[in-house]
Amino acid sequence: MPVRSNVPMVSADGIRFEVATGAACIDFVYTGGAGERARWETLHTPRDLAAWACTSGIAAGAEPDDVVVEAGELVLARELREALWQSANLLADGIPLSPEATATVNRTATAADLVPQLVADAEGSRTVALHRPITGAQVLSALARDAISLATGPYADRVKRCGADDCALLFVDTSRPGARRWCAMSRCGNRNKARTRRRNEGDHASR
Ligand SMILES: [Zn+2]
Repeated sequence: MPVRSNVPMVSADGIRFEVATGAACIDFVYTGGAGERARWETLHTPRDLAAWACTSGIAAGAEPDDVVVEAGELVLARELREALWQSANLLADGIPLSPEATATVNRTATAADLVPQLVADAEGSRTVALHRPITGAQVLSALARDAISLATGPYADRVKRCGADDCALLFVDTSRPGARRWCAMSRCGNRNKARTRRRNEGDHASR
């Protein structure tokens, strides 16, 4: 599923960085969540989910006014997000998925998907646009379907957690060599480089 290439993030210590999440269903997990992730929360109202669907690429080409999200669908969105977070962590750890999370994903996927419409003009150009209005249930169904594809596709074993001990961010490593270690080079990659440099300087100083 096409997604924006980077999710803008701000760390607890105020550093701005961007994460290439690699999949729409992982992108969605970055909108917030339960527990510690509540501080990232961006889905406060149904309108927030509509706006996210447009900027994330799930409802590419649509405007927030084209996406009609009911209050109940926002509740379902949070449930799906927890199921996706849990499932992605289990995939990253190579642990079998939980039946409860899988049931939530499957139930969500039963709703109708986003509907493509052919747009053809008199000059012969042909493009695709989503049928509108788009419903919250369609957005969630598309995310659940993306999660099913991810969990059963070639990148299932490329779901990774950032290599920094103190970073829980997840991503799908879509790089050709599959050697990606960090949520973002500009965040944890650089912190690791600095740590390694300090350690090496320490070694020299103690000689
Ligand atoms: Zn990280």
